[in-house]
Amino acid sequence: MLTRSALLYLARQEKLKDIAARFRTFRKITARFIAGETIDEAVTAIKDLNARGCSASFDHLNESVSSVAETEGEVREYLNVLAKIDEAGINSNVSIKLTQFGLEIDPELTYQNARQVVADGARRGNFVRVDMEGSAVTQMTIDVFKRLRNEFGLNDVGIVLQSYLYRTEEDARDLLKIPARIRLCKGAYDEPASVAYPEKKDVDDQYVRVMKLLLASGTYHGIATHDPKMIDATIDFAQKQSISKEAFEFQMLYGIRRDLQEQLARDGYNMRVYVPYGKHWYPYFMRRLAERPANVWFVMKNLWK
Ligand SMILES: Cc1cc2nc3c(=O)[nH]c(=O)nc-3n(C[C@H](O)[C@H](O)[C@H](O)COP(=O)(O)OP(=O)(O)OC[C@H]3O[C@@H](n4cnc5c(N)ncnc54)[C@H](O)[C@@H]3O)c2cc1C
Repeated sequence: MLTRSALLYLARQEKLKDIAARFRTFRKITARFIAGETIDEAVTAIKDLNARGCSASFDHLNESVSSVAETEGEVREYLNVLAKIDEAGINSNVSIKLTQFGLEIDPELTYQNARQVVADGARRGNFVRVDMEGSAVTQMTIDVFKRLRNEFGLNDVGIVLQSYLYRTEEDARDLLKIPARIRLCKGAYDEPASVAYPEKKDVDDQYVRVMKLLLASGTYHGIATHDPKMIDATIDFAQKQSISKEAFEFQMLYGIRRDLQEQLARDGYNMRVYVPYGKHWYPYFMRRLAERPANVWFVMKNLWK
């Protein structure tokens, strides 16, 4: 059986990313986690989510971009998405990855690219979330985010922290002082024990610690997890501290625990679903397989069908 590390290693193979994008036969397998290849397919998925009481966040799949021209294409794509959200009247914000905007080429280019998207979102009254990627770019991501946050408002741009990194509690305290809107997740990349907790229990313990800091801060944050234990701990803490349901949101990924998404929405919690779309689905898809070995069987079964 492929291990989590092996799947995450495969996720980082750039050549496979390009090859996989060409095979439309993978489509029926990826459809569970990816809303489609085009903005319009993502809009259709988001209309359905909105009808089920969930808001959404668009994610155009294309990380680790290595040419300036491609980063400019990503900016155009996100400007189209922001326009499309208004045109279609759907309840959605957007999530960006800074390596998509050139973080592995030049941080200044990245900032200029990202600020175009954040400025357009701010003009439209929408919100841009900066996703967090591997630990090699954590500090750079925070630095670019702080520049953006310095220029734009609390409700224009936010960031993500990962509870598997040792540094995260300190980062949370630092970012809360600005203040900043934070999405808390466990972390999806293959990280060494020098920077991240190897044991799930420690990742979960830090998740709960940071969740409490976020909820108690009075700023609107995103609690991103499918883990019922993390969700119960959040609901329990909010109830004990008399923090209202409107003061934060739960977030989950497209196609994962739809039952729980709908249950939380029915219970009156704000529920946002992260909706990835695009041709470059390979690394995202592989990270979803790595999170749950049973997903590999699901893929195998469908390949033989
Ligand atoms: C909205 C959102 C945004 C995210 N943004 C980022 C980001 O910017 N950076 C980053 O590093 N990570 C991001 N992640 C991914 C995150 O870090 C985790 O890898 C992922 O959410 C799995 O962790 P978990 O909290 O669900 O808990 P886990 O302990 O991994 O899983 C708990 C339970 O959830 C279910 N589950 C979890 N994953 C899957 C799956 N792939 N398929 C089927 N069932 C599953 C299973 O029932 C599992 O037992 C994001 C996650 C969400 C929900």
